[in-house]
Amino acid sequence: MSFVESEERIALRRAVAEFGARYGHDYFIAKARAGEKTTELWEEAGKLGYLGVAVPEEYGGGGGGIGDLAAVCEELAAAGCPLLLMVVSPAICATVIARFGTEEQKSKWLPGFADGTLKMAFAITEPDAGSNSHKLKTHVRRDGDDWVLKGTKTYISGVDEVDAVLVVAIQKTGPVLVVVPTDAEGFTRHEIEMDLVAPEKQFTLFFDDVRLPSDAVVGSPDQGLLQVFAGLNPERIMGASMATGSARLAIAKAVSYARQRQVWDSPIGAHQGLSHPLAKIHIEIELARLMTQKAAALYDAGRDKESGEAANMAKYAAGEAIAAAVDQAIQTHGGNGLSSEFGLASMLGVSRLSRIAPVSREMVLNFVAQNSLKLPRSY
Ligand SMILES: Cc1cc2nc3c(=O)[nH]c(=O)nc-3n(C[C@H](O)[C@H](O)[C@H](O)COP(=O)(O)OP(=O)(O)OC[C@H]3O[C@@H](n4cnc5c(N)ncnc54)[C@H](O)[C@@H]3O)c2cc1C
Repeated sequence: MSFVESEERIALRRAVAEFGARYGHDYFIAKARAGEKTTELWEEAGKLGYLGVAVPEEYGGGGGGIGDLAAVCEELAAAGCPLLLMVVSPAICATVIARFGTEEQKSKWLPGFADGTLKMAFAITEPDAGSNSHKLKTHVRRDGDDWVLKGTKTYISGVDEVDAVLVVAIQKTGPVLVVVPTDAEGFTRHEIEMDLVAPEKQFTLFFDDVRLPSDAVVGSPDQGLLQVFAGLNPERIMGASMATGSARLAIAKAVSYARQRQVWDSPIGAHQGLSHPLAKIHIEIELARLMTQKAAALYDAGRDKESGEAANMAKYAAGEAIAAAVDQAIQTHGGNGLSSEFGLASMLGVSRLSRIAPVSREMVLNFVAQNSLKLPRSY
């Protein structure tokens, strides 16, 4: 195992960091506050090949792995542009279709993922199921050659800006993944009012007997469970990367401020009451990044089970790191930490999100207790 990233990966990080810096945090926050999308950023990232870096080369992508895509996501977040849709569209949806889709599905969808011209949301969460995916009720049934989908999903990101939604539905033999175009008849959505400062909006989705063609189900209907798990590992790796990137940004802002701000004889960063928490969080971010890279390396090596454990641990560590980083960055700025000018209070919602989604801190701890430590379940 190498603890050193390849020259190629390092070059990718550098290029994405420079690209992200051309947009930056002020741009991102201004778009979010105005209720606008970061379309030009997404389109340019797509044209430069950053969004399709993990799509196979034969479909126009970069032929890299989830580790490369995670590096792109982390560097954009560190530059102040955390793209929530990167966690779902190129990471879950493209990965699942590339791994399990039929040849027709790959030819239809992957070129769009490769250049970013296609966006897909991902829907698993339901109002009455939440963390308990055994209680999912949205179901799909055969009707002649067609599929008919019925049910409700909630907290689904970015549905107003995507072409289709990859929906986890239940059928006789277990879960399946179904591609539902956003203009399908019987598919409606309701926006959830959020206090998050983010350009992506959240929706509750209603599928009222939505009729879909026979190729709407990804790959073989019998492989649904495997496909869902295969998609959730990249989701956790990407969630962790977005969190560590944003945590790096918060700490960078705090350090820059702590070096300059002087209210006694030396800058505030000289006081250990501020420098030690910042140093501690820096260590925690680096540990979370290392675990994220391990999870990605295992996933790219086809070791799904071990990757699952590492991805959960990385997601946990990254969620804790960003929550601590944003909190300490605000503290370091004193009153300025809550001003709009310094852009830190706007990160509070997203920093808490990392402890809740795509999998909550408690459910990661349940996973580790039961799978890694073989402790009995309480539920
Ligand atoms: C901004 C945002 C974007 C999102 N985007 C998407 C998306 O694109 N697609 C999608 O499918 N979902 C999305 N989600 C949903 C997200 O994945 C869920 O919110 C998350 O999985 C938690 O589910 P829940 O909200 O129903 O909480 P609940 O399951 O109701 O849990 C509530 C609390 O109870 C705890 N809890 C529950 N069960 C246990 C247990 N057995 N032991 C200990 N504690 C427990 C949880 O950890 C949590 O703290 C998004 C959510 C948000 C807020």
